[in-house]
Amino acid sequence: MSNVKVRFAPSPTGYLHVGGARTALHNYLYAKRKGGKFILRVEDTDQERSTEEALQMQLQDLKWLGLTWDEGPQVGGDFGPYKQSERLSIYKKYADEILTKGKAYYCFLTDEEIDKQREDAMKAGRPPQVQSPYRDWSTEKALTEIKSGKRAVVRFKVPKEATEYGFTDLVRGDVKFPSDMVGDFVLLRSDGMPVYNFCCVIDDHLMKITHVLRAEEHLSNTLRQMMIYEALGWETPQFAHLSIILGPDKQKLSKRHGATSCHEYMEKGFLPEALNNFIALLGWSSPKGQEIMSMKELIEQFDLDRMTSSPAVFDETKLLWVNETHLRALPNADLWMRVKPFLDKHNVNYSGDSDWQSKSLDAFKPAMRTLLDGVTLFSLLDDESFAVYEESREALNWTKSESVILAWSDLVKASGKEYLSALEFEAIQNQVKEKCQVKGKELFMPIRVSVIGKPHGTELKLLVPLLKVDSLVKRASKTIRAAKEKQFKPSPVAEAEKH
Ligand code: GLU
Repeated sequence: MSNVKVRFAPSPTGYLHVGGARTALHNYLYAKRKGGKFILRVEDTDQERSTEEALQMQLQDLKWLGLTWDEGPQVGGDFGPYKQSERLSIYKKYADEILTKGKAYYCFLTDEEIDKQREDAMKAGRPPQVQSPYRDWSTEKALTEIKSGKRAVVRFKVPKEATEYGFTDLVRGDVKFPSDMVGDFVLLRSDGMPVYNFCCVIDDHLMKITHVLRAEEHLSNTLRQMMIYEALGWETPQFAHLSIILGPDKQKLSKRHGATSCHEYMEKGFLPEALNNFIALLGWSSPKGQEIMSMKELIEQFDLDRMTSSPAVFDETKLLWVNETHLRALPNADLWMRVKPFLDKHNVNYSGDSDWQSKSLDAFKPAMRTLLDGVTLFSLLDDESFAVYEESREALNWTKSESVILAWSDLVKASGKEYLSALEFEAIQNQVKEKCQVKGKELFMPIRVSVIGKPHGTELKLLVPLLKVDSLVKRASKTIRAAKEKQFKPSPVAEAEKH
């Protein structure tokens, strides 16, 4: 095993966003490619926004994607605890160390005083940075104040003389920051809770993280983090800031663009391997130019040299294509295991052995882009949801339609079979043609309506063998009744059309 150790460090404030999933996936792929370790660390020091429920959902989503971690919640490891809220004494210890070194101080400025400073600085055209009169106080003096009941934050002392902090970002190349870009920033809040930048450095160091792959929005935090590393005399890990993800309108991807959480994609019937494939390609490309890739291929080909800093566009049409391609390549037995929970959840009735399941998937697969499409398609085979739709009205009005359906139904019944084969279906259709002296759509459409309630859709040759003879006969008589009574159901919107 190499010494490569990466981490995904989500804040449990909601569902796992596709941007977070991309960060997790790139870290995971990098660890697997390098034979290293993938750590999961929970950044929950923002207690107002973090919830246990959100954490559990995020862990579930990561597992659904198959991004299992080598160390972290539920699996443990030698560098735990892996939840920041359980590491408070560790942060306190290092805050004390920085205070002792004179590189941080207790600051008693109130929020009002800070706001006032900001306003004045803006008016005077100065950068709105905190100027604290407590910067040069000794820790002893400050502690006396604290003992007497005053509340203080711990602030980092940003070096007075302006210098430059630079590092080589593995995605962006050389990045430089002037040190005066930031003012003295907070390490511990007045209630003792540490802030993200501080915990992140302590944990990345103690957990022996070698590479930090994270979202672009954290690029500017890197300056503060480098200052903390320096104050503690620690080496920095290598940084790689992933490209921003935009919606199709080139604005930052957000709820406005529709589904943005992995959970929503799961519920919409996307496959985890398809989502992984698609998000892996946000900011990275295969050296072989491949677009459809299995997890194994992603691991074999992933590296940081093909990462780009240009914004990635989240194109749902491409995601659908990636999904249907993975879905249609699945063996029927596997696909059935995945479609089944959707049918159960949406109360679609089905009966039939594994041969029947496989045949129905052969019939429906070409029309399925997502597992959820299976719900619409399998409903066609569910007698309880059989209905004659408005769009069939015209075909049922043709002079010979009723006799076509009656002839069809009689011949089906007379077959004495449980199911018809495709050949038997065709033979019966030909007999109806002879008997009723109709051809073309006047023959096909009434039969189709009597099978699925609609004049268009999946080929009957594939569909009829999936329905019991009994059911075909009942459907035909319901169709004749609907035509007589002019009782049609409003046309459903197919799931596939909703995408
Ligand atoms: N908790 C941070 C986030 O969710 C992680 C930042 C980092 O990876 O350093 O954005």
